[in-house]
Parts: sequence; structure tokens; C-alpha cells
Amino acid sequence: MTFTVLGSGTSVPTVDRGPAGHLVRTTTASVLVDGGSGTLQRCAKTGVDPTALTAGVYSHRHPDHCADLLPLLFAMKVGPPARSNAYSLYGGEGWQAYLTQLQELYGKWILLPNGLNLTEFPLDGPGCAQLASDLVLRTAPANHSASALHLRFESEGHAVVFSGDTGPSAALTELTRGADLLVCECAGSDEQPIPGHLWPTAIAEMVREAQPKTVWLVHMYPQVDPVQAVRTVESTGIPCRHASDGDTWDASEPRLPRR
Ligand SMILES: [Zn+2]
Ligand SMILES: [Zn+2]
Repeated sequence: MTFTVLGSGTSVPTVDRGPAGHLVRTTTASVLVDGGSGTLQRCAKTGVDPTALTAGVYSHRHPDHCADLLPLLFAMKVGPPARSNAYSLYGGEGWQAYLTQLQELYGKWILLPNGLNLTEFPLDGPGCAQLASDLVLRTAPANHSASALHLRFESEGHAVVFSGDTGPSAALTELTRGADLLVCECAGSDEQPIPGHLWPTAIAEMVREAQPKTVWLVHMYPQVDPVQAVRTVESTGIPCRHASDGDTWDASEPRLPRR
């Protein structure tokens, strides 16, 4: 399993960091995890054709996490070539209503020739789905709005957890236990935390409890000093870095990010 950060940024447009987007790859599957604007292009840059993805998994419906879904469906519809098999989408409860509204707006332009299979996860407890023969997704409700979930990807004895957007969350601590990599949002600073989001000291506290092998911080708003944030999390003794767009964690060589 590999986990590639396609967008390490936020809703604030910057030169070198796109909004949230990630790519999980196994021997049999390529799964998009969130997708704010620009994610499709950054996905293509990794060598993965977005219209041929196995599935899309969304932590929640804020635009900085899902704005590229509409152009993705359009690309799958019109091609060329149009997508020849159904596309599978996964998200929290409320996604069916969201898709119905998109379809009312855009009609046939986003109706895939072979359909869209949606799986909704509960917002009041754990969820689980087999995304591919070698990839399992586990979910837990996050402490955020817009039907937000934490996501844990498991493949061949390895696990990567993506926090999604969240305030402090006991469910995230539980989901992170035993994980090889925690990709964690750090939207606020200790001095200026943002409601519904995490800040360095809160992440350090959670990491100390959950003991993932490595932590990658993403989704920092401008008030966060990345060096200070990394230092705070590393005070737990667990390696931490501020991930960049294009960084890839590889289960077969987990210590070195690939670009
Ligand atoms: Zn959000
Ligand atoms: Zn966000």
C-alpha cells in the first residue's frame, strides 16, 4: 500500500499546496481520498488516470475536500472514452442527498453510463467496507460538521489513518491505535485554534495516547508555524513531518517519503 498526498493545503489558495486530496494505491486498487480543486490534475501527475480510479472516499462535504467531484463525474461521463464500468463512492450519511442535488443541477452531464454505487457510513458509530480484495476501509465519526468521518485504510497488515477535518476526537485516537501512518489535519495553532479543528498540542496529546509509528501534518492555515507544529508533535518521540503535495508513504519503505 502507498499513500500519496495530492493536496496538503487548505481552502486558502497558495502557490505550492492544493486543498485536501490523497491517493491510496494497492496491488489491485487506486482510491481517491477527498478531492478539493486541482486534485484531478495532481492525481494525473502521479500517473493515475482519474477517470480510471477504483473508487472515491470522502471524509466530508466541505468544498476544500470535494470540489473536484463534479469535474470528475463529467470527465467520466463524456470521456473520451466514457467510463465503461460503474464508479464507487463512499462517504458519511447525507451523501445521497448531496448527489441527488448535483444530479438535479447537472442532469445527464454527470449521469455515468454504467452508474454510480454509493455507500454511506453511519455518523453515530463505526463503519467498514471492503474497497478492493486487498483494501479495507474503516470509518468513525469526526468532531466536525458536514457529515465528517475519520478514515482508516488497511492492506496486508499495514494501516494508514486520515483524520479528515476534526476537533479533538476520542474516535480518532481509537482508530489511530497501531497505525503505521497518521495523516492529521493541523488547521489551527496553539495560540489561535480554530473551532472544529486540531492544533499542535492537541495532536501531540492524541498521538501520545494512540502511538502511531509516524505522523504527517497537513491542512495548516496561515497562522500555523509548520516548524513549531512539527516540533510539538515530535516531543512525543514519534517522527513527524509537514507533508508536501506529491509526498508518498510506502508500506515497503515507510521511513522515506517519495516524490
Ligand atoms: Zn471541513
Ligand atoms: Zn478542510
